[in-house]
Amino acid sequence: MTKRLVIVGGSYAASELAVSARANGYDDEVVILTDEGELPYHRPPLSKAYLLGTDDTALPLKSEQFYIDHRIEVRLNSRVTSADKRSMSVQIAEDDTLSFTDLALTVGASARTLPGAEFSNVFYLRSLRDASRLKKAAAGARQVAIIGGGFIGLEVASALVQQGCQVTVLESCGNILTRVVAPVMADFFLSAHRARGVEVRTRIQIARILGDHGVAKAIFLEDGSSVGADIIVIGIGSVPNRELADALNLDVRNGIFVDSASRTSCENVYAAGDCTFFRSPFAPSGIRLESVQNAVDLSGVSASETDLAA
Ligand code: NAP
Repeated sequence: MTKRLVIVGGSYAASELAVSARANGYDDEVVILTDEGELPYHRPPLSKAYLLGTDDTALPLKSEQFYIDHRIEVRLNSRVTSADKRSMSVQIAEDDTLSFTDLALTVGASARTLPGAEFSNVFYLRSLRDASRLKKAAAGARQVAIIGGGFIGLEVASALVQQGCQVTVLESCGNILTRVVAPVMADFFLSAHRARGVEVRTRIQIARILGDHGVAKAIFLEDGSSVGADIIVIGIGSVPNRELADALNLDVRNGIFVDSASRTSCENVYAAGDCTFFRSPFAPSGIRLESVQNAVDLSGVSASETDLAA
């Protein structure tokens, strides 16, 4: 019987997993289902060079011909809405299903949101579509307010200040980048951003975003002050996408729990990338690691250490 590996998501992990499966001798069908309109693409440039001008053509991870040559079918605009273990199938949009013998969830994470997303000039940054909208709006903006002093907020700040915008970063902690770097590095980046003209305010609490006619005008802070803005970018972390894992009744903690071979709690179902949570010698109680390297590492392991290689 022909087997079929179905990979859900259009991420690094998806592309890497498909390539690893082939490289490790998996000769049956491989199908990537992505709800986006593009082949899997590089996401790191979206908050950096892309905002300053790099065009879309530099972004795809692999060419269309590469997938054809490796018999990897990539179905674009194919949103998987549910998955069922008993019938071993996924539901695509409303009217299509696809059966699998092996399923890999590389579904990533979504931006944590704040009330105010309904304003047309408030942006999050996860996908090419988000980045493209932000790039267009930023071209005509003078004052930019960024909520969150993590990687997303600071990379966008760096790009937009170079473009001549007046940028203010609003961070709730006592310093920027507190989740990801040591204090000495955080201090270095704080000084570097300020030296380049970014106003960084720490220990602030957002009260609300105020606007009218669907357009945000300012951010009000709990201390009574306000920050005016033509556009607002929110980068306050992410939450793992868990809907399909829940439908399959998988063990989900702060992400889909996987072992060192990317196996979930359900046989023949794997997961990799930002949506996963795993134990490692460096994080014995578990960690969800949002990085390209992690996506690549978990996806390479999936094919070589499991029966996908058989
Ligand atoms: P992040 O790294 O978690 O940083 C978000 C920051 O916003 C945190 O300092 C957070 O403080 C703060 N914050 C949370 N709620 C806030 C609020 N209401 N008002 C003001 N500040 C608030 O998240 P991110 O920058 O959105 O990035 C998302 C993920 O993508 C992260 O895992 C990041 O590492 C990854 N990423 C990596 C790169 C890279 O490696 N170059 C680039 C882009 C994105 P608390 O910690 O107190 O919540």
